[in-house]
Amino acid sequence: MGAVKKIGVTGGIGSGKTTISTALESLYNIPIYSADDNAKRIMSTDENVKSKIIDLLGEESFLDNKLNRSYISSKVFNDKSLLTQLNNIVHKAVMSDFILWSDNFKNSPYVICEAAILIESGWDEFMDMVVVVEAPLDTRISRVIKRDNLTEQQVRSRIASQLSDEERRKKADYIVCSDGANDVNELAKQLNTAINTIIYQK
Ligand code: ATP
Repeated sequence: MGAVKKIGVTGGIGSGKTTISTALESLYNIPIYSADDNAKRIMSTDENVKSKIIDLLGEESFLDNKLNRSYISSKVFNDKSLLTQLNNIVHKAVMSDFILWSDNFKNSPYVICEAAILIESGWDEFMDMVVVVEAPLDTRISRVIKRDNLTEQQVRSRIASQLSDEERRKKADYIVCSDGANDVNELAKQLNTAINTIIYQK
């Protein structure tokens, strides 16, 4: 039996990636890998990654063995080359971890890698299919203001730092419109059918 099929689910902040992925998990028992959560775990616990971060940014990157986020942000904030190098370390480690993790689910029809930066980090190349979740800008802004207690300006600046929907679309094998007009479970059923059709055609 070959490797389990890997589906990347991406979309801008507040588009509804987590919501639709969670619906697939509860309806069809699909295993979900959150790239964001795992990146945080790997940066704090993977000894190989930690020593590479220390080599790049210095001992202060960890305080009492904990990731010193504010120090790291201040180092990479205005230095594109350092940021790229840090991303290379972390992005590689996350994809290796995802591939290893996915081996645990050989009997699953597919697994999901949920990642806001799926395309920015080149992870889309490791996927059998890319799903892009979209919602209108105003909807996303009001969702995130409500969920994360941010101002409209803060949400807009996060959106501006991510790829545009147009850019993401270029890599999409399937687009989900999660604007709230349709029931999420209904969207998840349609998506599951599309995934099962598309991955076995490829
Ligand atoms: P982030 O990148 O910030 O993690 P996300 O793309 O994972 O965002 P979600 O966390 O799934 O987005 O959704 C953001 C908010 O919008 C949540 O509060 C969620 O309940 C709501 N939401 C998402 N999709 C829908 C939908 N189709 N209908 C109604 N509400 C939705």
